[in-house]
Amino acid sequence: VPLTWWCDYAWLPGGRVERGVVLTVSGERFTAVGTVPVPPPGAERLPGLTLPGLANAHSHAFHRALRGRTHAGRGTFWTWREQMYDLAARLTPDSYLELARATYAEMALAGITTVGEFHYLHHDPSGRPYADPNAMGAALAEAARAAGVRLTLLDTCYLHGGFGRDLEGPQRRFGDGTAAAWRQRVDALRDDLRGDPTTRVGAAIHSCRALNPAQLADVAGWAADAGAPLHAHVSEQRAENAECVAAYGRTPTELLAEAGALGPAFTAVHATHLTDGDVKLLGAGGVCLCPSTERDLADGIGPARRLADAGAGLSVGSDSNAVIDLLAEARSVELDQRLATETRGHFTADELLTAATSAGQRALGWPDAGALAAGRLADFITVRLDTVRTAGAGTDLAGAVVHAGTAADVHTVVVAGRTIVAEGTHQLLPDVAGALDASIGALW
Ligand SMILES: [Zn+2]
Repeated sequence: VPLTWWCDYAWLPGGRVERGVVLTVSGERFTAVGTVPVPPPGAERLPGLTLPGLANAHSHAFHRALRGRTHAGRGTFWTWREQMYDLAARLTPDSYLELARATYAEMALAGITTVGEFHYLHHDPSGRPYADPNAMGAALAEAARAAGVRLTLLDTCYLHGGFGRDLEGPQRRFGDGTAAAWRQRVDALRDDLRGDPTTRVGAAIHSCRALNPAQLADVAGWAADAGAPLHAHVSEQRAENAECVAAYGRTPTELLAEAGALGPAFTAVHATHLTDGDVKLLGAGGVCLCPSTERDLADGIGPARRLADAGAGLSVGSDSNAVIDLLAEARSVELDQRLATETRGHFTADELLTAATSAGQRALGWPDAGALAAGRLADFITVRLDTVRTAGAGTDLAGAVVHAGTAADVHTVVVAGRTIVAEGTHQLLPDVAGALDASIGALW
């Protein structure tokens, strides 16, 4: 029996906001999307503006346990990293399952229907593989299933602690030793998860600090052979660029280009400190901006408009999960450009919503998600227009939602035709705040 919803308003392909939109769903896909003035019999009414599900293109789930603990005072990206390593050393497959389930459930409440998890906590704290070498990845996949969201597990190859340096201390659990060992483990992970329709495996290069040029090419080759998304942290910090140029005479982007990593399946995360040549090269693929994390870590403001003009598909991510609010991330893409340039109007509301929806879904290997259209995956959310933040918003509803809406205004979330959040309550994990408190408290 097909399910039907009737939306007060919906944001449709091409950026049209229509009134009275019926969504008909069979199984995991829309079978029809059309407008009718009154709700058809049996349809569930969705008050507010309905959008395709949001894609969080860059997450480190375990960083959620750092929220509130690392933002004050001075320090740098590099001192923040020491605090992050302290946490990384504490996690086990069981405790990571608890933390990630609660974190992904928080994401679902925020309207995120797909998360891209940049995953490098592979082995035990001494660097020895668990009995199941993918025990940590399996915990993340189970967490996403329990939270009702799609997962692209971007299994991250991380072999060096810096240019020409071995992994040491807490970094040891990130490494597989060689790119060949990484490939073998990721092949096994992909086999393990093959039967799971809401989980996909992609690849990630931690950064050009963490792999040498031959290893970069190895990981890029795996992703190309697998037809899988490939992500990498790129030029988040000036020090990383300086060290890369000193070691190889090339920027990180140039090094990735030579390794064959760039192209439509590639997403550069951050892409903050770029040369003009880097911008041109990265235009061949996607760029994921993480504005709230980039502000928190004092990274800088990347050339978002120039990247988009070069052809890059921009997406957004919550990265450190200090804040999980993709509407806020999306508007920050525009607002940070305003601060950097002292001019307004770099991105339209449609471009910002595209970054948070279809561009992110594509970057995570779900090109069938991200649009309210027949044949596409039935992943959608509704943002209320009658909360204290959104009431009286006028007629530009897409603009109002992306510039004033928040995660707290999302009241309905449907993934693959299944209602995950109703009336602002998670249907699989009713007390998400309690689950966050318990799983984070247990770690500290
Ligand atoms: Zn990251």
